[in-house]
Amino acid sequence: MAGMRPTGRMHVGHLLGALNTFIALSEGNDCFYEIADLHALTTKFERSREIAGDVYEMVTDWLAAGLDPAKCTIYLQSHIPEISELAVLLAMIVPVSWLERVPTYKDQINALGPEIATHGFLGYPVLQTVDIAAFKGEGVPVGQDQLPHLELCREIVRRFNHLYGPVLVEPEAILSETPYVPGTDGRKMSKSYENALMLADDDASTIAKVKDMFTDPEKIRKSDPGHPETCPVFFFQQIVNGSNAESIAHRCRAGQLGCVENKADMAAHLNRWLAPIRERRRELDSKPGYVDEIIAEGTKKARSIAQVTLAEVKSAMGLA
Ligand code: SF4
Repeated sequence: MAGMRPTGRMHVGHLLGALNTFIALSEGNDCFYEIADLHALTTKFERSREIAGDVYEMVTDWLAAGLDPAKCTIYLQSHIPEISELAVLLAMIVPVSWLERVPTYKDQINALGPEIATHGFLGYPVLQTVDIAAFKGEGVPVGQDQLPHLELCREIVRRFNHLYGPVLVEPEAILSETPYVPGTDGRKMSKSYENALMLADDDASTIAKVKDMFTDPEKIRKSDPGHPETCPVFFFQQIVNGSNAESIAHRCRAGQLGCVENKADMAAHLNRWLAPIRERRRELDSKPGYVDEIIAEGTKKARSIAQVTLAEVKSAMGLA
C-alpha cells in the first residue's frame, strides 16, 4: 500500500522517486495506490476546490508513466467513507503526545505557518495508519526518512490489537531508494520551488528549462575543468543518456565539453526519454471520462475491502 497527495501534474522527481517504485511493485504484488485527497486538505483546506483537478492531473500522469490499473488498485481516499470512520475510531486510542512528537509536525508548522496547525494536521498519522490498516497492508514502500512515520503506524496498530484483539496488520517497510533529484536550480526538484521538469511539458519548454539550468559554478568557459558529480545536468545525463555518461564526465573534467553543448544534448535525450510518457498522456487526455472510470472502479474495489475491515474493527470494539 502506498499513497500520494494529489498535487497536480507530476515531475521527473516524482517519476524517479515514488512512481517507478509503484510501477515495479505492481508486478507480482497485490498493490493498493491511494490518491490521498483528504491528506491534501491538511495544507490546502482553503483551496479545497482545486483538489479534484489535481487528482485528475496526477492520476493521468500515473497512467501515462506506465502504472497499469489492471495490475493494481487506484482509489480515491475521500470516496471511501469507511476510511474516515476508521480514522475516528483509531483517533480515540492514540495519545496526543505520540502525535506531537512526530518530527515533521513542528518542522511543517515552522515552515508553513501556525495556521496549518489544525486538528486534522495533528491527527495526520492516524489517518495515515488507517490508509494502510483499512486494506491490511503488509508492505509500505518508504524512504529511510519516512521510517519514523511507519513506526508510529505500527505502534498505533499494536495498541489497537492489544486493546481489542488481533484485527489489524502491522505493516512492514519496503525500503526503497529515493534518489535526490535536483531541479533546474540545483535544489531538490519541487513544484513549489518552480524548478521542476514536468512529465507533461512539451519539448520546447523542456529545452528552455534545461537551457537555464544550474551547472558547476566553477565552469565558466568550455576549457575550465568541470565537476560533473555536482552538476544537475550531468545527473540527468546519467539517467537519460547513460551509455555516454562516462565520456561526458571525462570531457567535462578535461575542459573539452561546454555547458551549452551539454545542456542541448541532455535536453534532446530527456525529450526522447519522456516521449512515450507524453504520447500516452495525449492519448489519455483525448479519452474524456477514462481516468475517472479507472478511479471509480478502483475505489469500488477498495471500498469493499475497507468495509470488511471496518466491520471487524467495530465488532472487536463491541460497537457492532
Ligand atoms: S559540461 Fe556538462 S556536466 Fe560539465 S558542468 Fe557543464 S553542464 Fe555540467
